[in-house]
Amino acid sequence: LIRFDSVTKRFGSNVVLDEMDFTVSSGKHVTLIGPSGSGKTTILRLLMTLLKPDDGTIKVAGDYLTHEERGGQLVPASENHVREVRKKIGMIFQQFNLFPNMRVLRNVTEAPVHVLGVPKEQAEERALELLEMVGLSEHVNKYPTQLSGGQQQRVAIARALAMKPQVLLMDEVTSALDPELVAGVLDVLRDIAHTTDITMLCVTHEMNFARDISDDVLMFDAGRVIESGAPEKIFSDPEHERTREFLSAVL
Ligand code: ATP
Repeated sequence: LIRFDSVTKRFGSNVVLDEMDFTVSSGKHVTLIGPSGSGKTTILRLLMTLLKPDDGTIKVAGDYLTHEERGGQLVPASENHVREVRKKIGMIFQQFNLFPNMRVLRNVTEAPVHVLGVPKEQAEERALELLEMVGLSEHVNKYPTQLSGGQQQRVAIARALAMKPQVLLMDEVTSALDPELVAGVLDVLRDIAHTTDITMLCVTHEMNFARDISDDVLMFDAGRVIESGAPEKIFSDPEHERTREFLSAVL
């Protein structure tokens, strides 16, 4: 469902991703691990089209994100094309990024109504279901600042799912939370991982969570995947010395 072909991303002379290839199959949950600065967040930002690659192609659900096909030729993607492909991708950020001036319910209905054109009543019905799923039925009329960080992050999860994305990207979704709020958010995400067929690509330092939800773990180092495999294998019997060093520092 996601395919990176020979993707290179540089910032000045710093080559952050070096001809990176990787694929995530439909319905799989893939976690990116690795030291700080190894390029994990850059992968997510490329998928969110917050960055453009210097070289290579990225495909999501059969469409190029970086290009479009016109008259049998591959040409750089237009804004319209990117907007369409982006609708397939949901994202949950470290810093929640809720709309502060909107109540919880409207935070969840805003994009389905205005981007997808879903009728308001239908969007509200679905939003209430999602907010119930993340345990926030009692808070639908509050503003984000009236909620704890964990509750705000659960609103952000409901908001992302309201767009019915095929892919859910998650970037360190618990790292801005107080420790006692982390488990509640991870439980909701575990539930989603185990009960839906959504494809997930996740960057996390929560190794137990990665072990629980991942079909595959990719170990990054200096802009390359140096090792990948099932979590049981990577966490218990890593092959690469860098993976062993990294895991002994974080586990
Ligand atoms: P972390 O776990 O700390 O988030 P990461 O593996 O996600 O690390 P990235 O955020 O992808 O790493 O960053 C990879 C490299 O790219 C780093 O060396 C970083 O300094 C550099 N970098 C990222 N964004 C920019 C930018 N906008 N301009 C310049 N350099 C950048």
